Amino acid sequence: MIASLKQIKNLKNKRILVRVDFNVPLQKGKVKDDSRIRASLPTIQYLLKKKAKVILITHIGRPEGKVVPELSVKPVAQVLGRMLKKKVEVISDIQSDKLGKLQPGEVGMIENIRFFPGEEKNDSAFAKELSSLADMFVLDGFAVAHRESPSVSGVQKYLPSYVGLLLQKEIEGLDAALQKSKHPAIFIIGGAKIETKLPVIKNIVKIADAVLIGGAIFNTYLKAKKYGVGASLVDEGASEKSLRIFSHKKVFVPQDVIVGDKKGKKVRVVAIEKVAHAICSPEEMILDIGPETVKQYEKSIAKAKTLVWNGAMGFFEVPVYANGTYEIVRALVTKSKKGAYTLVGGGESIEILEQMGVKKKITFVSTGGGAMLEYISGKKLPGIQFFKK
Ligand code: ADP
Ligand code: MG
Repeated sequence: MIASLKQIKNLKNKRILVRVDFNVPLQKGKVKDDSRIRASLPTIQYLLKKKAKVILITHIGRPEGKVVPELSVKPVAQVLGRMLKKKVEVISDIQSDKLGKLQPGEVGMIENIRFFPGEEKNDSAFAKELSSLADMFVLDGFAVAHRESPSVSGVQKYLPSYVGLLLQKEIEGLDAALQKSKHPAIFIIGGAKIETKLPVIKNIVKIADAVLIGGAIFNTYLKAKKYGVGASLVDEGASEKSLRIFSHKKVFVPQDVIVGDKKGKKVRVVAIEKVAHAICSPEEMILDIGPETVKQYEKSIAKAKTLVWNGAMGFFEVPVYANGTYEIVRALVTKSKKGAYTLVGGGESIEILEQMGVKKKITFVSTGGGAMLEYISGKKLPGIQFFKK
C-alpha cells in the first residue's frame, strides 16, 4: 500500500512541500524540453484545486552546493507559470517571509535545491529546516527517489509524507511489470552515470538471465583492466570491488567498439582483444558499441520475454555514434510487437525513444533510469520506502 496524495482529507490552507523532478535540459536560459514539468502537472493542479499552498522543490544539473546562475530554476518557473496561468515565484532565501505569505491556491518554487550546501551534504539540520516550511510533504519525482538527500528522504522524518500522482503511476506501473515479467529477462544497461549504475548490476544479476553492457560504463571497466582508452569518459572513482561484477557469468560486454573524436571524425571500429591493448590514441574516445556487439546483443534480445533498457549504448547526440543505441532500440520494438514485455527508463533513454518515434511501442516507460533499475532489482529506495505500509 502506498500513502497516496488522494488520501489527504483536508488540503485547504495547508502548506505542501512537493519534491518534483524538473531537471530539464536548459539552453541559453530556455527550457529545451518541458515534458518533466508537464508530467507533474496533475499533482500540482490537484493540490491547487484543493486550495493548498504549494511549495515546489527541484534540482537542475549538478551545481554541488554552490550558486550557478545558469542552473537557476527561473526558466522552469516561467514555463510552469504559463502552464498553470499563475505566477510562480522563485524563492532563493528560504528564511524570507515570501513563503509564509503564500495564499491558498498559490505556488512558490524554491531555487535549485542543489545550490544549498545542506542538500549536497545530506545534512539533517537542512532537512529539518526544509520541513519547517510546510505541513506535509509530497514526493512526485521518481527519477530522484533513489537519492538519499534532505529534499527527497530527509524531510520525510519530520513531515507526514505522501506520493504524488506521477510517482504513484510509476510505482504501480513497475509493480505490474514485475508481476507480468517472464523469463528469459534481459537487461540492457548503458549510459554515463557509472557511480549509480555499477552498484545496481549486482542486484540485477539475481533477477535477470543476462545483462548486456554498453555506454561509458564499459570504458571504466576497460581502463581498470589496463586497456588504453584515450580520452574516453570513465569514472575514475569506481572501486575494484564494484568492477568485479563484470566477471559475473550473466554479464556480457562489447566485443568491439566505435572509436573517434567528439565531433564524429576519424570514426573506426576496434575489436576488443582478450589481452589488454591500446584501443584508441590519447585524443580519441570510445563512443559507441561496434557492429559485432550489436549482432550478438540482437541475438540475445531475440530470445527474451522481458526486456529492460536504460542508458544509451554510445554518445548518441552525435549521429555517427547513435547507431548502436538505435539498433538495440529497434530490436526492442520488434520484440515488443511480438508480445515481449518491454520496460525503458531514464531521461536520455526517453529522449531517444521520442527521437525515433517509438515511445508508444514500449510496454512501460519510466522517468527514472537509475531509480527504475534499483526499484525493480528489489532495492528499497530511500525516497519511497517510507510510503510503503
Ligand atoms: P539515462 O538518462 O537514460 O538514465 P544516463 O544519464 O546514464 O542515461 O546516460 C546518458 C548519456 O550517456 C547520454 O547523454 C550519452 O551521450 C552518454 N554516453 C553513453 N555512452 C557514452 C560514451 N561511450 N561516451 C560518452 N558518453 C556516452
Ligand atoms: Mg541522464
